[in-house]
Amino acid sequence: MSNPLIGAPHGGELVDLIVSESRAEELRELSLDMESVVLTDPQLSDLELLANGAYSPLTGFMCKNDCRQVLETMRLSDGLLWPIPICLDVQEDAAANLSVGQTVALRDAEGFMPAVMHIKDIWPVDRQAYAQGVFGTADPAHPGVDRMFNTMGSHFIGGDVEVLTLPLRFGFRRLRHTPQEIRTLFKKLGWRSVVAFHTEKVLHRPDYEQTIRAMAHARANLLLHPVIGRIRPGDMDTYTRVRCYLAACQKYSPGSMITLSLLPYTMRYAGPREALLHAIIRKNYGCTHFIVAPCHAGPEAGESCTAFYDPDAAFSLAASYAGELNLSVLQFEDLVYVEEDGAYVPKKEANGRKIRSMTEEEFIKRIQDGKKAPEWFTFPEVAKEMERSYPPKSVQGFTIFCTGLSGAGKSTIAGLVCARLQEMGGRPVTFLDGDIVRKNLSSELGFSKEHRDINVRRIGFVASEITKNRGIAICAPIAPYGATRRQIRRNIETHGGFIEIHVATPLTVCEKRDPKGLYSKARSGLIKDFTGIDDPYEEPERPEVTLDTTDMTPEEAAQEVLLYLERTGYIR
Ligand code: ADP
Repeated sequence: MSNPLIGAPHGGELVDLIVSESRAEELRELSLDMESVVLTDPQLSDLELLANGAYSPLTGFMCKNDCRQVLETMRLSDGLLWPIPICLDVQEDAAANLSVGQTVALRDAEGFMPAVMHIKDIWPVDRQAYAQGVFGTADPAHPGVDRMFNTMGSHFIGGDVEVLTLPLRFGFRRLRHTPQEIRTLFKKLGWRSVVAFHTEKVLHRPDYEQTIRAMAHARANLLLHPVIGRIRPGDMDTYTRVRCYLAACQKYSPGSMITLSLLPYTMRYAGPREALLHAIIRKNYGCTHFIVAPCHAGPEAGESCTAFYDPDAAFSLAASYAGELNLSVLQFEDLVYVEEDGAYVPKKEANGRKIRSMTEEEFIKRIQDGKKAPEWFTFPEVAKEMERSYPPKSVQGFTIFCTGLSGAGKSTIAGLVCARLQEMGGRPVTFLDGDIVRKNLSSELGFSKEHRDINVRRIGFVASEITKNRGIAICAPIAPYGATRRQIRRNIETHGGFIEIHVATPLTVCEKRDPKGLYSKARSGLIKDFTGIDDPYEEPERPEVTLDTTDMTPEEAAQEVLLYLERTGYIR
């Protein structure tokens, strides 16, 4: 295929669903009497891409016939190529309030209304068919399938949308563009051929080299087009990633060869079909070439990416439609760093010479261990941004989360650890003591199962905020339920350390101690649902530290915790 020039969008016309100001005003008034459908972040991403024409020629969320055709044939009912349904799912109770012919307000979680939708179709989700069609498997081990079976609503609603305004986005607004804005920019710059580079990761040297080779091969400019879920204030990781892109952009010479733009798209991890959708989106943004990586849009990067899709399947599928799309599909080259050349070369040209490679996880571990970032892997400016966000453990925030039966010794140990850490100084320490939390954060809560669980989640939330801001949070709730503890761990580990201390003192010892007389009240039935008596305590599966305080002093127990912190580098 000869080098394509920037061409028409998919289906011929670039869609723009944003209505005039007067229509928006009218819709705002009408919306007072409309049912609302609250969209999740991924649904808002889809709405934005419909609104701005990135999903051209779609003019709304798909109706049943299009959805079925797309699943079965990868085509819309008019025959146009389309690989993945763009459908709006709702929960059963919401679906029960909706009917065909109705106009509903589409809102975000804060109640802001970016659009309305005229419902043309409501139908139950056939999860099996959807999973097979989109993901090529119904295996729940596939994260996309799992999400679909467990969080997708029971019904789809389809119909055209009218958009009042794009969903609110706060972060890096100057890097967000509609396809029309990008097309106008390309025209202004005189760019006739543009390679789009899709990424969900930080751009390190291997990706940079990849883009340079693709630009040279295609004799084209570059649209660096990372996908960005919704950015909220404090969403550290995404902000870091974008700062890294900005740093990497400085490395292109001349810098006028590239444009960086953030794509508000939520990944589905549907492999080959999703690669094709990515290509269509980039075509709508005016690109002429699209790079498809091995395991593109697969569920996991690295070795396990082959679990669901052949590594080359995404490229093969996208490339087989290149002619129809009038888009050149480029294969990501397998580049390796050859030490003696001091350069990246295609793997097949390495000829047994010493090569170097590193995963992003290994890189992050390195910088957290305080080691220097190797320049062959990433640019120093990018490394500097990453180092700011992934500091060594000795300056990270962390949460010490003591869990165990009442009377096991949690508060006593937590209090002692708190005092030792404050004596050392360096980081602010907050003891989220049970009584203080109950008084200041949860005063309206009682001691029912549900209320105790809400209380623990609140403690987890505050601890995660403290951890994010590089402080030390110490908590000592009973926290009897594994699911709640796991969720708190997940939230906190994105910001720093989570050290679960299972204070595993046996029930008999706790009951004998009975420091607050609670066990005797529970035994006589004065307290209901008491952990260990008539409500279960689910033991932690892999706590960082386990302490049975039966035969140790509180000081010895606290010392065990401090030794763990020292061993793992959280304190020096
Ligand atoms: P929890 O917070 O787990 O309900 P507390 O710390 O309030 O438990 O009470 C535990 C009781 O056990 C305290 O009276 C404490 O003095 C006593 N105790 C005895 N040995 C230990 C130990 N090694 N660690 C912690 N507490 C201990």
